[in-house]
Amino acid sequence: MANIFGLNVEEIKEAVAKLNIPSYRSKQIADWIYKKGKISFYEMTNLSKSLQEKLSAEFEISPPTLKQRLDSKDGDTSKFLLSFDENTAVETVLMRKNYGNSVCVSTQAGCNMGCAFCASTLLGLSRNLTASEMFGEVYFVENELKSEGKSVTNLVLMGSGEPLMNYDEVIKFLRLIHDEDIMGVGYRNITLSTSGIVPNIYRLIDENLPITLSISLHAPNDELRTTLMPINKKYPLKDVIEAGRLYAERTKRRVTYEYILIDGINDGKKEAAELSELLKGQLANVNLIPINPVRERNFYRPAKEKIEAFLNCLLKSNISATVRKEMGKDVNAACGQLRNRYLKEGN
Ligand code: SF4
Repeated sequence: MANIFGLNVEEIKEAVAKLNIPSYRSKQIADWIYKKGKISFYEMTNLSKSLQEKLSAEFEISPPTLKQRLDSKDGDTSKFLLSFDENTAVETVLMRKNYGNSVCVSTQAGCNMGCAFCASTLLGLSRNLTASEMFGEVYFVENELKSEGKSVTNLVLMGSGEPLMNYDEVIKFLRLIHDEDIMGVGYRNITLSTSGIVPNIYRLIDENLPITLSISLHAPNDELRTTLMPINKKYPLKDVIEAGRLYAERTKRRVTYEYILIDGINDGKKEAAELSELLKGQLANVNLIPINPVRERNFYRPAKEKIEAFLNCLLKSNISATVRKEMGKDVNAACGQLRNRYLKEGN
């Protein structure tokens, strides 16, 4: 049975055309699904009984289903393990912030980028998610928030997966979520985070979507970056920074550079100076992220004084920088691990 969940109004119109349904019905159906959260045709009370029956016989409306949920003790963060089919599950995170409610979206089930500090890559890439599936993650959270009288205001494409390795579906997803008939999330409230897939950063520039680009840097030289992020062999730092510079120049939007601070690895004065030199004159902001310890790899969080010294070094060189405020430590420490456990144990 065809699933119409995640189709836009035009696509619903095409899908239901064979039933000879007037085209204005597709907008009504979209309203029921996306604005009112109804996933049974029988709940769409402005459709006639016979139309409800016809639609139910031909189509299903299947958003993802919840497998597991974790809530932080402070109540700010909720993590959901959502499944799309019996072999595919991803983590989606809701962060309730003072400026709004942000959803961290996964774009692939697993990841094959191999970043040394990341649990999402441990079991490799299972598959790309479709635009509808990514939309399903946000839809799920939106419906959860409704019960709190709130709604989704911001998105970060920072969950499992490299968004720019699933380019076409990610762009389709961005257009879908921005569509006023669907959810109407402003592009300026969306951040796409990449490990630096240079050719696709250039493609993204040409899409003219005013979203924020966030580039995971994590090291200020090729030698160190390659040990932390193998993708650096293919797209070295100089090319990544040039792509970021052009993104800022063309979109007039400040690029965020993510930098995970790992004790004794990339958090010294030398690295801070190198990083300052690298980003000199760019419309950029550095987001410093003290690492969640990865014991298997001997990656630990630097002491507070070292984090501050690194930050001050950047600020003195006129590089805009902040240290990420930690949220939901008790659930985020397990980022990527909820899914891994589920896949291994099947529960
Ligand atoms: S950090 Fe992102 S790109 Fe790197 S392995 Fe993890 S999910 Fe993939």
